[in-house]
Amino acid sequence: MNSITGDDYDPNSLTVAEALNRIEQEIQPLRGEEQLAIRAALNRVLAQEIRSQINVPPHDNSMMDGYAINGSDLPRGETTVPLKMVGTAFAGSPYLPTIQSGECARIFTGAVIPTGTDTVIMQEHVSVTGDLITIGPGHQVGQNVGTAGEDLAIGSVVLKTGKCLSAADIGLLASLGIAEVKVKRRLRVAFFSTGDELCSLGERPGPGQIYDSNRYTLYSMLTNLGVAVIDLGVIRDNPAELKQAFLLAASGNDAVITSGGVSVGDADYVTTTLREVGTLNFWKIAMKPGRPLTFGKIQNAIFFGLPGNPVAVMSTFYQFVQVALRRMMGQAQTTAIRFTVPCISPLKKRPGRIEFQRGILEHDSQGRLVVRTTGKQGSAILSSMSQANCFIVLPLEGGNVAAGSEVTVEPFGGGV
Ligand code: AMP
Ligand code: MG
Repeated sequence: MNSITGDDYDPNSLTVAEALNRIEQEIQPLRGEEQLAIRAALNRVLAQEIRSQINVPPHDNSMMDGYAINGSDLPRGETTVPLKMVGTAFAGSPYLPTIQSGECARIFTGAVIPTGTDTVIMQEHVSVTGDLITIGPGHQVGQNVGTAGEDLAIGSVVLKTGKCLSAADIGLLASLGIAEVKVKRRLRVAFFSTGDELCSLGERPGPGQIYDSNRYTLYSMLTNLGVAVIDLGVIRDNPAELKQAFLLAASGNDAVITSGGVSVGDADYVTTTLREVGTLNFWKIAMKPGRPLTFGKIQNAIFFGLPGNPVAVMSTFYQFVQVALRRMMGQAQTTAIRFTVPCISPLKKRPGRIEFQRGILEHDSQGRLVVRTTGKQGSAILSSMSQANCFIVLPLEGGNVAAGSEVTVEPFGGGV
């Protein structure tokens, strides 16, 4: 008998990696760029290479408040030397004359290093009498001096095409004097929920009805990705209405995302409807939560039919949709970082599917980074995603995890 049996083993399932491969073969980075002021380019994908036209910093400069001297005037051994103070260099107001041996200049942080000097002594390490300073032993030639171009050297590549611009990147662009950059145009993503049981916020739930949460999670995950979102509401489990919604969603948009209706229940019309209006792949994926996933195309839009269960929506979004959308946006790096840490809770797991359990990464009383489970792991337990700050990624073949074992974690929103 195979060691992998039971509910969690399905020989027709694709692995997450296989599904991702198939998705990546189908998608293309979108064309279309726009020129934006750098502040408006935060979280957008750079569509050009940025090379430095200048040195940053432009001059050798002081990293301390103190005294600029020539390194050859530093005391040798225990002897101290008096140096004559001949001027002051402020940030933004350089001291221009050349400093001679035996002289020094008062200098402040960020000020250009005066000609004839190459070393800065912190003011705390100097005794001053009138215009004479005395320096003790223990200093080194060149100390406390930032060199021209040490942050960004002239001619070097500072940012590559495909970089998602972070706060640091925006500051870096400003430090180069660059006011505008070319970025990829924003992706347009339409989405809706399917299900007769769903009611939207502001409506009163009828018998057996629940509030639609998936549309709100999807809205938020998509907004975090920086795409333009088109919310088409709740569509009932009715083939004619679904067909209309699919066509509306696809027109003029780059991607369409739905939740629910992709199982093989009587009211699951997403797959059949999609076959009519587009091309369709229905996959069972060896993952939990999120076994059923539809992927395809309607006109020029790529299509993801996510499962209905709220946690499955999020796990499939993070593992597939987010990667695909980032690729379409032209982003160079698309996958989240993973690393291993000790897991302080025992975890239940059956072999046969990769599991994305919900975990809380934290420091234990000794300051060690560990992860623990959020508790109940059902794919309808959305509160587990709210409490968690990471997925605990348990490999397909693996079984239960004993407390104290090393596990792989993927922080939410981590590293991309
Ligand atoms: P389905 O795949 O449509 O059978 O849905 C699976 C489960 O997820 C059912 O319990 C649904 O009620 C629930 N579900 C589907 N869509 C949503 C939604 N938009 N918000 C909250 N729960 C949902
Ligand atoms: Mg449904």
